[in-house]
Amino acid sequence: MKKIAILGSTGSIGTQTVDILPSVDAEVVALTTNKRINLLEEQARALHPKMVCAFDEDAARDLKIKLADTDIRVLSGMDGLTACAAESGADIVVTAVVGMVGLLPTLAAIDAGKDIALANKETLVCAGELVMRAAREKGVKILPVDSEHSAIFQCAQAAQGNRLAKIILTASGGPFFGKTADEMKNVTREQALAHPNWNMGAKITIDSATMMNKGLELIEAMWLYDMAPEDIEIVVHRESIVHSAVEFDDGAMIAQLGLPDMRLPIQYALTWPARVACKVPRLSLAEAARLTFYAPDYEAFPALGLARRAAAEKGDRGAVLNGANEAAVGLFLAGKIGFTDIAARVAYALDNIPYQKEITLDGVLAADAAARELVLA
Ligand code: MG
Repeated sequence: MKKIAILGSTGSIGTQTVDILPSVDAEVVALTTNKRINLLEEQARALHPKMVCAFDEDAARDLKIKLADTDIRVLSGMDGLTACAAESGADIVVTAVVGMVGLLPTLAAIDAGKDIALANKETLVCAGELVMRAAREKGVKILPVDSEHSAIFQCAQAAQGNRLAKIILTASGGPFFGKTADEMKNVTREQALAHPNWNMGAKITIDSATMMNKGLELIEAMWLYDMAPEDIEIVVHRESIVHSAVEFDDGAMIAQLGLPDMRLPIQYALTWPARVACKVPRLSLAEAARLTFYAPDYEAFPALGLARRAAAEKGDRGAVLNGANEAAVGLFLAGKIGFTDIAARVAYALDNIPYQKEITLDGVLAADAAARELVLA
């Protein structure tokens, strides 16, 4: 039986991970949340992990009281999150926390020899070079949970040792597909949060609206599959049925299709290489009837170009891009800046924070902090 730690178990990916657990031969050893302690308590009583963590200190104090009648250890903060990742006895760690906060626990888990089911793309965007190097050195597998990267992973099973010539990363286009930058100037928080196909957390939904999510995924794919960014093509596919594709040297393109439902990629990361029954609705091609594809509009969605720039420059640019974006999305969600200001602030950070080529953990943390500070100033 596989032992699983779920970091961010009360979020969108976390709750869907809990949902598919009965299909996976697994025992949960750790669960974490930021502040949603009522749901975490419910999960802990049902799954009996060894330890749990509430990242927020006040929430952890309340959680400790709630679970006082159990023998579950209640931890808090980054130390607690890291302990749940590295010291809970897990074989595999699902990293489903949102944002840069996932980096240190992921590195600690890799260092402790745990496989990673990676749902926290910001980790690779900020420190892909460090994370992939550490994983290679420790012989740890990084199994993608992001639907596109899972699709690429599934398609790549056909490679049989051959190289991928190209990755075709599909994008839904978000709620503002077809709009010009001018038309997006005054869109509201509510409009940006209304995603047509996927039901996700607030941060990633805003990232989908700006298409920064696809930019972050381009960088994620570059590190996961050791691809040059120019060999990763982004294609807008409104139906979100083709979850991504790969092309081989002979021109054959292999794609993975399914209805948009995260439970399949989550489950596959946990059961790979086995495929077991999954309770997702099945795709009918006849009902889908028509699949459409478009080149993305780099002018209307400048986040795509900014991500391509960060991908090409490497060094600390992923950390700057991501830190600036996280801070700018926070400002937008708080009603403090407009929608198109998000990409503008990210561009400003990339233009004004001096470039560091050599990548260290301290360098990544410093670049992230500098980017946030500049955006919030
Ligand atoms: Mg995705």
